[in-house]
Amino acid sequence: MKNIFKYLKGYRAVFLLAIISIIVATAMQLGTPILIKYAIDSVIGDEPAGNLQFLMDAFGKNLMSVVWLIIGINFIRGVFLFFKGLLSSYAAENIAQNMREKLYRQIQYMTYEHHTKKETGDMIQRCTSDVETIRRFLGVQIVDLGRILFMILMSVGIMLMLNVKLTVFAVALIPILFGFSYVFFTKVQKNFKKSDEAEGKLTTVLQENLSGVRVVRAFGREKYEIDKFEEVNKNYKDLTYRLIEILAMFWSSSDLITLFQSGVVLVVGAQMAIAGEITIGTLIAFITYESMLLWPVKQSGRLLSELGKTTVAITRVEEILNEEIESDQPNEFEADIQGKIEFENVNFSYPDGKMALKNINLTLEKGKTLGILGSTGSGKSTLVHLLQRLYEYEGSIKIDGVELKNIKKQWVRRKIGLILQEPYLYAKTVKENIGIIDKSYDDSTISEAAKIASIHDNILEFKDGYDTVIGEKGVSLSGGQKQRVAISRTIIDPDKPILIFDDSLSAVDTETDMKIRRALSKRSKDVTTLIISHRITTLSEADYIIVLDDGEIIQRGTHAELIHADGLYKRIWDLQKMVV
Ligand code: ADP
Repeated sequence: MKNIFKYLKGYRAVFLLAIISIIVATAMQLGTPILIKYAIDSVIGDEPAGNLQFLMDAFGKNLMSVVWLIIGINFIRGVFLFFKGLLSSYAAENIAQNMREKLYRQIQYMTYEHHTKKETGDMIQRCTSDVETIRRFLGVQIVDLGRILFMILMSVGIMLMLNVKLTVFAVALIPILFGFSYVFFTKVQKNFKKSDEAEGKLTTVLQENLSGVRVVRAFGREKYEIDKFEEVNKNYKDLTYRLIEILAMFWSSSDLITLFQSGVVLVVGAQMAIAGEITIGTLIAFITYESMLLWPVKQSGRLLSELGKTTVAITRVEEILNEEIESDQPNEFEADIQGKIEFENVNFSYPDGKMALKNINLTLEKGKTLGILGSTGSGKSTLVHLLQRLYEYEGSIKIDGVELKNIKKQWVRRKIGLILQEPYLYAKTVKENIGIIDKSYDDSTISEAAKIASIHDNILEFKDGYDTVIGEKGVSLSGGQKQRVAISRTIIDPDKPILIFDDSLSAVDTETDMKIRRALSKRSKDVTTLIISHRITTLSEADYIIVLDDGEIIQRGTHAELIHADGLYKRIWDLQKMVV
């Protein structure tokens, strides 16, 4: 509960008003049986009116006046119930909105390492369904808590005033009901966690399938995917069904105890009325108050089971909120980046222990081009990750003499342009995609960038030119076109002293590839460029080339040197020469 109250911050006053509203509404509800007792015993019968003598003085033995009073207080009850609903929903919706915002913000700044470890579906589940569980609890249950406490205290109090002996019988089984609720609370909590996680798994499978639809089709894995989905779907159903079974068991057994408790009041009360110990009006009022007492007692069981779910949801949300985020350290600054890169004895292992880079030594002067060749898994992308400060490294990486660890992460990423092999484009227009980093780019700057990336002519051929929407709702671009749009959006900012092409020219033909590189070097001779490629012609013009194998540099030199030395470079060159 302490954790939950933390989230009420900023809206406590609203919740308090909602609780006051529900208490007023409940007080009105509690008044009705007293008025009915008064009508039966004193207006129709001749018993003394007691506390309600003032009504007798004002209206006399007039039954209709009691009817109007009952209608009146129930009208007031309705109005206050409305306010309670309005206030608690307002607070709960706002808290849920803030929570989603906080989660989204956290995800933006979470370290890359943590991102790669998380399943997208599970993250979506935490940001949507879990927040929804919390919202429901805050919107309904928290305020109900006030109502439950008030109703229990008041109905027991009034019953005690009416008859102490019958009250003892009326509450006899309630401790059992409370104990029972607590046992179920722990059971619900455990099972909800399982079912919630299973739902996350289901979302993950669905999400992966949708993003990987091409692979699924290409490899004819539809049947396998259906089976996989059926399995997680069944697991989710089984776990949720188990949860519903537990809840049903709880509801039916608590109903049974409640019914039994009402039966006790009815039997004992009837005998007491026959013996003349209580009036008929008192008996009827007692029976009504008994139901008013049992409802909140049962409701507290529901509250406990909802609390069980909510604590699970809060824990899952907090797991994200407590994740480490990227933050600037006091010794980090925005260094003047010109483009000289030095690697000195750099080693790097991924958190799972795999050594991905071993003893890398390398110097690249400003404005020079480095070609990187290596088989899949040899560490090429890891090298780029380190330059982008996505992971911490061992050894020394310097940019213009400044240790990379001392340069602010955001700054490093702004100054080093990275173009990926399979870039992600937004479902927006071509123009918006190219100008994504800054909305203020004008049309000529955008088309200039597109010309350098050799995509301008293609764009003009699209139906709406630069205003053509890309993606699901618009045109589908070829792999090469996507790569070139990605190049345009990176190079549009001339203030990028370092550019990295991570196999990002792979889907472009050799001629266009060369055209792009020429245009780039014509625009700026000073840009330091790293080109990862499997195509030797792409690498051949680089000032310096390294060949990576299992995290180590196994060959280095210029193209001319490497094609004359025995090794991987020459073997690939020979193979590709034959194809050409
Ligand atoms: P390349 O880009 O040359 O294909 P990578 O740099 O992606 O190679 O990978 C180098 C090695 O590090 C591979 O053995 C790969 O399995 C491993 N690796 C890559 N990314 C991760 C990661 N996030 N966690 C653990 N190991 C990784």
